[in-house]
Amino acid sequence: MNEAYKVTIGLEVHAELKTQTKMFCNSKNDPDEKRPNVNVCPVCMGYPGTLPVANMEAIKHVIRVGTAINGTIADYTEFDRKNYFYPDIPKGYQITQYKYPFVTGGELAGVKITRIHLEEDTARSSHDTGDFSLVDFNRAGIPLMELVTEPVIHSAEQASMFAKELQLLLQTLRVGEANMEKGEMRVEANISVSKTDTFGTKCEVKNLNSFRAVERAIAFEVARHIKLLEEGSKVVQETRGWDEVKEVTFSQRVKEDSHDYRYFPEPDLPKIVISEVPELNPNTLKQSLPELPWEKRERLTKLGLKPDDVEVFVRNRNWGDYFEAVSKTLENEPKKVLLAVNYITSDLAGLIKKDETSSFDSLVISDKVPVSTMAGIAEIIVEGLISSAGAKKILSHTYTNVVKTDPRVLASELDLVQKSDEGELTSIVQSIIDANPNVVAEYKSGKVSVVQFLVGQGMKATKGSGNPAVLKSLFEKILG
Ligand code: ADP
Ligand code: MG
Repeated sequence: MNEAYKVTIGLEVHAELKTQTKMFCNSKNDPDEKRPNVNVCPVCMGYPGTLPVANMEAIKHVIRVGTAINGTIADYTEFDRKNYFYPDIPKGYQITQYKYPFVTGGELAGVKITRIHLEEDTARSSHDTGDFSLVDFNRAGIPLMELVTEPVIHSAEQASMFAKELQLLLQTLRVGEANMEKGEMRVEANISVSKTDTFGTKCEVKNLNSFRAVERAIAFEVARHIKLLEEGSKVVQETRGWDEVKEVTFSQRVKEDSHDYRYFPEPDLPKIVISEVPELNPNTLKQSLPELPWEKRERLTKLGLKPDDVEVFVRNRNWGDYFEAVSKTLENEPKKVLLAVNYITSDLAGLIKKDETSSFDSLVISDKVPVSTMAGIAEIIVEGLISSAGAKKILSHTYTNVVKTDPRVLASELDLVQKSDEGELTSIVQSIIDANPNVVAEYKSGKVSVVQFLVGQGMKATKGSGNPAVLKSLFEKILG
């Protein structure tokens, strides 16, 4: 790739919101409904003479997202009609927002946000049925949030990182599942390249349905633009599609201007003055927000967790909830919590990975290793009752046999209680000294590091149950 070109990317992300009913009618909002045209009514099927009623739950969701990213919540807002003809929108227009979106400004993952508005999703059409097309209206009218970023993203990786952070935010706020494979979150990427400070001509790639597709499509476009410019040709501003199989973008249509849509205010819906609607009060909604992903990152980092572990717990609800429960049981004592984290992210994760009957996604972790067991293991390590090797044995015993036995009890049942009693260990230490005269001579001639070998022999002799720290100090004492 030619280093002299600066890449500029702006994203437009659509996300379906999780609500009981659709955006402008009482039909059920059920993204999992498989039977076509079940959750429909005259409003979302666009019958003439029907009237829309705005869904307050969806509006609250958008305001929550807006306050989470520190955007400005509009006081005056209205819906508009975006006119176009297509079978997936039988009214001939989509109800969306144009001049007065709910949210303007704000920032997420270091990316400046232009706006967030609310609109209705369209029906789902399928054209791969032969001589005819099919339209399923279950999706028509599902509340759809559109977030637009400023053109301030500079790489494919940054774009996909942003999309992941947005997905995480929507899930954390429980305003949407944002599953890209299911089409609950769809990304459009605007891409341009330029050698100067003036932006180049952009192309928009539509309907990117996975983070991988976001990255691949952007990389493809960047290379395509650079090649065109290097050849002395021009980039044509257009909308392009992404071919998942061939991993190429292809021209769809020359982009329409907004005046082609003949936007005008939706006359069938009241204007909204947010300060006049108590349940939409942005301050109250902001106060009701759960801990946000970046706040959680900061808290866990302060507790001393490593960045990789922090990411596991921030991004994965399943692991995050398990960790929080363990941490709470340990009264958030950093020393114990950090020990537990180790056993969660390396040992327990390892056990699950090896286990063909479990998967990370579906597994209820506490069914396999109760929170009390994990916390108990950390407690008795700190007490010196068991060694790290003993902890691993208790963990795998608990996992494999699905037992809820207190780790303290398991430690003695499995004979893992560390021998820390000097009297008991002294005779073992003495017999190792007697059996290893050469090593002892080395130690005495100044090579004190060989004490590790002797401690190792001590661990072997105690079948792993000796307390290594006590063993070491005994060797040092006896050898002088
Ligand atoms: P349009 O009028 O073509 O819809 P907008 O100004 O509304 O364009 O921007 C749409 C999206 O394209 C935004 O995410 C914006 O950040 C991005 N964008 C605008 N200009 C460029 C550019 N030159 N290169 C890359 N992205 C751009
Ligand atoms: Mg635009």
